[in-house]
Amino acid sequence: KEVRVYEFAEAINKPLEDVIEALRELGEERDKNDFLGEEYIETLAEEFDVPVEIYDPLAEFDYVKKYDEQCPEEEFDTERPPIVTIMGHVDHGKTSLLDRIRNSRIAAKEAGGITQHIGAYMVEKDGKKITFIDTPGHEAFTEMRARGAQVTDIAIIVVAANDGVMPQTREAIAHAQAAGVPFIVAVNKIDLPEANPDLVKSQLAEMGIMPVEWGGEYEFVNVSAKTGEGIDDLLETILLQAEMMELKANPKCPAKAVVIESRVEKGKGPVATVIVKNGTLKKQDSFVCGKTFGRVRLIIDDLGKQKKEVLPGEPAEITGFDEAPFAGDTLVAVESDRIAKETAEKWKEYLERREKSKTTKATLEDLQKMILEGNLKKLPVIVKADTQGSVEAIKGSLAKLKNEEVKVDIIHSDVGAITENDVILAKASEPHAIILGFNVRPTTQAKNKAKQEGIEIRTYSIIYDLIDDVKELLSGLMTPKI
Ligand code: GDP
Repeated sequence: KEVRVYEFAEAINKPLEDVIEALRELGEERDKNDFLGEEYIETLAEEFDVPVEIYDPLAEFDYVKKYDEQCPEEEFDTERPPIVTIMGHVDHGKTSLLDRIRNSRIAAKEAGGITQHIGAYMVEKDGKKITFIDTPGHEAFTEMRARGAQVTDIAIIVVAANDGVMPQTREAIAHAQAAGVPFIVAVNKIDLPEANPDLVKSQLAEMGIMPVEWGGEYEFVNVSAKTGEGIDDLLETILLQAEMMELKANPKCPAKAVVIESRVEKGKGPVATVIVKNGTLKKQDSFVCGKTFGRVRLIIDDLGKQKKEVLPGEPAEITGFDEAPFAGDTLVAVESDRIAKETAEKWKEYLERREKSKTTKATLEDLQKMILEGNLKKLPVIVKADTQGSVEAIKGSLAKLKNEEVKVDIIHSDVGAITENDVILAKASEPHAIILGFNVRPTTQAKNKAKQEGIEIRTYSIIYDLIDDVKELLSGLMTPKI
């Protein structure tokens, strides 16, 4: 990776003097034997208009990336079921809705099976399948994303029609938006006499979530998890959304799957529920899965039945792991047990090396460096404040701030203390978001999590100071807190 100035000149076939001159113009006095940093290699390559590929010694360790190169999306030719997660405020009916959908759609008795809670289940509607992840909530969703796996295609945001938009409703929306996952709003509890679905609509419209029938882009479906009203409509809306997304896979490929749950069971060893994202997972497949590996011994579906294989978009519980994997780990089928074991060992090393190279840099420094190099178009921030008025004032001021290239991207804002969920959301954003608090403090859990994950939290008691700090950060002048 280290390359000297003269070596670079030779490599791109240009006179040495030209390269030294170009460096001088960049403000760098370099001799022919000096080393070039990675950033200069890229800048110079652009200057001389030569294509360069920077060799990353860690790249060959990344088995998921390798898989994606071998099984490219261009070759996905078969429709697959959408994978759906339900999110929303506590008590708005996530669990009830998941139960209602499961019971209305799986004729468990007819199929001769008993519903198994494996962490995900599949339902059929008009001959098409939909996979639901059975752990509601955005925490799990975002934790998994932070591990590098995006399993959800479509999110359902549940809002109780008698309660309206609540803090976790806004949080859930922010999490879905940050992940770039489209969502459908399910207005629940419409059986209640005090239900006011139009209030929910106008509350969300005010946040920029405009319903389709009001000329916007967001589907709203009125449902009752209690009576079952609207459930069919919700499933149809999901299928419609899925159709627009053209979700495809290539079942002929070896399997790539994401772990959504895992546990150790007596007699069975580690058991994990996976959802296959591409390819077909078969019994006896050797696989690598994060730091662990194994060979598929048993496959059990959500009706408790043994199966020989799992198709794209489908969930299943499998055994055969050497050790229990983590939720969010990606499983990839490989040719042999030996390759599986080797790949897992390399991956472990990869994670360790990546961790080391990360902790040497502070988040703010990283952001600042990216801004100075012109590699950052949006600066992701999360704003928490003591009143709605302050939230709006800060958002307004931040929106006006921008230098030529960078603008502030508020991925989430709300009234209230800085919570662990804010930190999880900040971490899942790429680059990591910084959290700005006005007249609010982080909770102890949030503080600890931020420390552990390297997330920057800054708190202020004067709005002007907050804005000023962001201004400085954008202009590359901010001094990182030590
Ligand atoms: P979660 O915390 O979002 O998972 O919410 P739950 O599914 O646990 O539901 C919270 C409460 O609301 C429970 O007492 C449910 O029985 C009730 N509930 C959920 N959906 C409905 C509904 O459509 N109508 C009515 N009347 N009650 C509901």
